[in-house]
Amino acid sequence: GGEPVAGVESRHRLTVVSGPSGVGKSSVAGELRKLDPKIYFSVSVTTRKPRPGEVDGEHYHFIDRAEFDRMVAEGELLEHAEFAGNCYGTPRGPVERVLAEGRNAILEIELQGARQVRKAMPEARLVMLMPPSWDELVGRLTGRGTENEAAVKARLAEAERELAAAGEFDERVVNADVREAAEQLLNLITGDK
Ligand code: 5GP
Repeated sequence: GGEPVAGVESRHRLTVVSGPSGVGKSSVAGELRKLDPKIYFSVSVTTRKPRPGEVDGEHYHFIDRAEFDRMVAEGELLEHAEFAGNCYGTPRGPVERVLAEGRNAILEIELQGARQVRKAMPEARLVMLMPPSWDELVGRLTGRGTENEAAVKARLAEAERELAAAGEFDERVVNADVREAAEQLLNLITGDK
């Protein structure tokens, strides 16, 4: 990441949604997609193995480490980060095209990536999705059953770091109710404050 994105003069077309693993980013994003199908949701690349039900090209582009390193070297990623032992990144091309068309775009990424976007595109809006409480987050992350114990531990450690950085974000939205959180996000995006 790091390089500025060309041809984007609008202030808040790009929204970054971050938040600890288990906070419900995907559920809120899914609800938001229903509320406004015109918003573009970036599809990240990742070296993580697909979870049951995840579709290549839809939830992520699942790639190997060599391809990830190549994309980084060629400058094809708008931002990238390592998270709990896997690599993640946002392909630059689709986001640039969508913004150039004047559409709203959303990146659902973790903290290090959000910080890179802030630098590369100061006009982007950064939103942190917050759990109603720490206990609630632990419960959701443990109950999801998609990760083993070590992975859950790694994600909880990351979650603590992410929540400690909430003050760096432009907005904070509490996900107590998926529909309400999605509506608040939509207001931020289309209200264009
Ligand atoms: P998961 O493995 O649970 O799908 O994602 C782990 C974390 O990586 C989540 O916080 C998710 O938002 C974040 N993430 C997903 N895609 C990207 C990306 O392209 N860049 C960055 N920096 N983080 C990402």
